[in-house]
Amino acid sequence: MLYGIFSDIHSNLAAFEAVLDSMKAFGVERRVCLGDLVGYGADPDACVALAKANADVCLIGNHDSVAIKWESDAGFNPYAKKAIEWTQEHLSEDSLKYMRTLPYLFEENDICFVHASPMSPADWVYITDLEDALDAFDHFSGRYCFVGHTHSPVIVAMHEGAIPKIVESGSYQAETGERLLVNVGSVGQPRDRDPRACYCIFDSLKNSVKLIRVDYDILRTQEKMREAGMPQFLVERLGVGR
Ligand code: ZN
Repeated sequence: MLYGIFSDIHSNLAAFEAVLDSMKAFGVERRVCLGDLVGYGADPDACVALAKANADVCLIGNHDSVAIKWESDAGFNPYAKKAIEWTQEHLSEDSLKYMRTLPYLFEENDICFVHASPMSPADWVYITDLEDALDAFDHFSGRYCFVGHTHSPVIVAMHEGAIPKIVESGSYQAETGERLLVNVGSVGQPRDRDPRACYCIFDSLKNSVKLIRVDYDILRTQEKMREAGMPQFLVERLGVGR
């Protein structure tokens, strides 16, 4: 099965459309969204509708959870707060209804999908180093786990009982007995200093993963954010991917 796995769209419609087109071009058979449909960008409703229409599986992220008021924005920085308040005012009843159905975690065969970490999914734990990765490996039983949340794509491979290693290139074929933890990056707000949209293609027959980067119209997207009154910091960071 050829999977297209994507996360952290953050109301960036142009980036999301570009990623959907790219997945189509690669012949992706199953599309999995790891959450954070909204927050930061100017097109929350359109992104929720597109996810609903295109994702075979869609999970909830922390920004989605605040958007539908399952939890407060207490942990957010001032920019994220401003954006999520605007988002709450602009989400339709249809979008809210759909978002309330989204699960925290989904597993099929030997694959685990979750927004932040398989360790206590609703607590939005950040996986930022190998120690965090090791904790994550302890909290899923299958061979593969795909996460988003940090907006920094990375592939981590681990043989049972060994120390996990970071794969330096953007693609990898798992060795026999090896397990993978993959951060699929962010569609709508990359933070690894590459402003292009990011997602992951996973071939479950070949045991291979590949991080894909896709160009989209960043200038137009920034223009829309300005028109919506989003903080300047959020507009500018899109252009540099940080
Ligand atoms: Zn996010």
